[in-house]
Order: sequence, then C-alpha cells, then structure tokens
Amino acid sequence: MQDFEIKPYPELWHELDMDVERFDKARQMLGGAYSKIFLSQNNRPQAMAYFDEMIAEIFGGRIKELVQAKKEGRPVVGTFCVYIPEEIVLAADGICVGLCGGSPGSIPDAEKILPRNICPMVKSAFGFKAGRICPYFQAVDFVYGETTCDAKKKTWEILDRLVPTYVMEIPQMKKERDRALWIEEVKDFKAKIEEISGKTISPEQLAAATKVINGKRRALQRLTKLRAANPAPISGKDALLIEQIAFYDEPVRFAAKVNELCDELEVRVAKSEGAFPKSALRVMVSGTPMALPNWKIHNLVESAGAVIVNEESCIGTRYFKDLIAEGTEDLDQQLAALTDRYMRIDCSCFTPNDERVTQVLKEYKDSAAQGIIHYSLQFCHTYNIEEIKIREACQQEGIPYLSIESDYSPDDVGQLQTRIEAFLEQVEG
Ligand code: SF4
Ligand code: SF4
Repeated sequence: MQDFEIKPYPELWHELDMDVERFDKARQMLGGAYSKIFLSQNNRPQAMAYFDEMIAEIFGGRIKELVQAKKEGRPVVGTFCVYIPEEIVLAADGICVGLCGGSPGSIPDAEKILPRNICPMVKSAFGFKAGRICPYFQAVDFVYGETTCDAKKKTWEILDRLVPTYVMEIPQMKKERDRALWIEEVKDFKAKIEEISGKTISPEQLAAATKVINGKRRALQRLTKLRAANPAPISGKDALLIEQIAFYDEPVRFAAKVNELCDELEVRVAKSEGAFPKSALRVMVSGTPMALPNWKIHNLVESAGAVIVNEESCIGTRYFKDLIAEGTEDLDQQLAALTDRYMRIDCSCFTPNDERVTQVLKEYKDSAAQGIIHYSLQFCHTYNIEEIKIREACQQEGIPYLSIESDYSPDDVGQLQTRIEAFLEQVEG
C-alpha cells in the first residue's frame, strides 16, 4: 500500500476558529481509512492520482482557495441539497460547496442539541458546525438550506444560530402552481445572492455559469456511461469518490480531470481491461445520498468481489442526469430553463414520485447491472417508504433486490456483510 497522508494545515485551521486538536485526530483517522479502502485496490486508473491529491489536500488546498475567494469579496455558499441552483452562485462569481455530512465522528456533537432519532446525514452535518470540526463549514459565508425533508427544514432554524442560514422553499408536488412557486423561489435566491455578493447577475454571466455546470454534469454522465462496460473499467468506490469530490472541487478543473480519466477509461474499455474481472457481479445502488466520507456500502460490496456500476442517488445520477437548456441570453427564459431542469429532480420528498421508479429501472438496464441494492439512511422516512415501490417494481421485473437501512456507525458492518454476501449468491443464481 502507498504512503498516504491527508495534509495538516494547523495555522489555517486556527484562523478558521476550529477545534484544531480534535480535528487533527479525525484527519489522521480519515487518512488511514482512505489508504485502506482506496489505495489497496488493484489496477486503478492512473488518472485517479488527481482525485487522491484532492483528498490529500481536502483540509488545506481547497480551503485556501475558498479563503482567498472570500478575501476577494466572492461569496462562498455552503449547501446540502442538489436543489440549490449552483449556476446562480457561480454567475455571481461565487463558490458553492456541498458541506460534509457523512461521518459518525460529528454525530455526538449534534446529539447534544438535536433529537437522536433523525437522519445521520443531518446530525453529522450539524455536528460538524457545532463542534467546529469542518474547515468547509468554517470557511463558508453562509448556508443555503431547503424545505425538502422535515429533519433538514427544522434543523436550519437551529443551525442559523451558529451560521447564517437561508432557506429556499421546495415544492412537494409537481403541478403547474408548484412550478410557479419554484420559479419565484429561484428568483428570490438570485436576489439574495446578488444582495450578498453586491453584484447583479447578467444574462451573459448566467449563460456562462450554466455552461460550466452543464460541462461538469456532462463529464459525470460520460463516466457513468463508461461504467456500463464489462469488465467495469473503474471500481464503484473510485467512481463514488469522484462523485463526492464533484460537490467541492472547482467545476472547470474538475470536469477537465474527469474527462482526462474518461479518455483513459475509453482505452481500457477498448482493450477489455477492467478494475474487476469480467466475471465480477455487477450491482447498482439506489436511494439516499452518500456524503463524504460515507463509503460503507461500496466497500462492503466490493470487498465481497462484486463491482458497483451505478449510483441512482443525489451523489450520483440524480445530480447530473439532467442539463439546463442553453442558447438563450434572455434572463426570464434562462431562469425558466433552470427551473425546468431542477423540477426534473426525482427526490422522494415529492409526491407522487413515480418517475423515480421508471428512472431506477432505466439505470439498471443502462448500467448492465445484475442486481439492485436499495440504500436508505436510518430515519429517512421518504426514501424508506418509497422503497416499497422500488421493491415492487424490481419484483415485477425479476430484478434481484436487497434493501438496506443503515447509519454511519460501524456496529452493523458484520450483519450487512452477511446480508450482502447472501444477496450476491442469490444474484449469481
Ligand atoms: S435526497 Fe432529496 S433532500 Fe437529499 S440531497 Fe437529494 S434532493 Fe436534496
Ligand atoms: S437522507 Fe432523507 S432524511 Fe436525510 S437529509 Fe436526505 S431526505 Fe432528509
């Protein structure tokens, strides 16, 4: 295994008013886990070196860029949901970063304040701020929340005591009047970003920002398509890592690096070279997002010899499957096109949300998977209940299916391993 260290930046962390001693321990643990989970893999693409470096610099290099942007008067916005239109932040020359919420380490901090029986992603994220143990949280000017699930929308009221937190109202249905509400919310969001940045967003700036974010989403689409090859040219763990990095890297640089990786993967596909042998079972994961550093399911599945070929979730295809129509520099038309794209997101917070069932079946086919694992975070009521419809659709189509509900603690790893191995035996037939 290669030597790997997540680089320490204690001075920078002091400047950001972090609990440096505690954070440094978390940094070392994360570095160890990364080494074990990622660097021990065989036959990784060479272009993964950039993404390894992004992790090595996760608490320094990118943070310095955010701090520098703030010094230049550019807004740095923290978000938690793929509904927040990052194109608008970028158009105001701002930076949008998805905040961390995938670690058990910050949950005790949250549980001192929030109820225990809510989603671990919400607790983890809140705990990072409460414990001052996330440099991203410390670097953002403010947070944009949304009214998707109950846990999040009520947490924003409490989070606002620690960091300015604005909230967008996300409709719960997709009728015409919901679209009308959403477009008004998008306009309010734009006005807020303009107020905070002191800049008026021009149609040209919005067109340019749309192009950049479309470019990032296109690169991720390309990566997803390549994973459909057999043998899979890249592991699910590496693909998940890239999808997680998409939420905090600079978008132009990130898209270029993903495209470089895809060039390498195309060569691999042409030569029938894979990260796993051709005989490896192919599994798709569907459900709740996996925020950094939540690698639990991917690690278990791939340690059992199968390969994950698709993530139907907000960390995966739900984030990048749809693009915004380009080609107009009329602001109203641009905002309408943006709204149309964001209204296509099929999160379980909508009712009804049957398009997600169709999408799961489509991605299963497109990715040439042989079974689906539905993954739901504990206490996520909307995904847990929507799971019924996904399960029924898989039964109807004869798709091998396993439903997992889990949190971030390592306590259920043994039990999950047994269930996953039994499932893979079932897939093998
Ligand atoms: S699952 Fe829903 S609430 Fe969570 S990030 Fe995705 S769209 Fe937002
Ligand atoms: S996983 Fe579910 S409960 Fe957790 S933040 Fe997302 S929508 Fe809310």
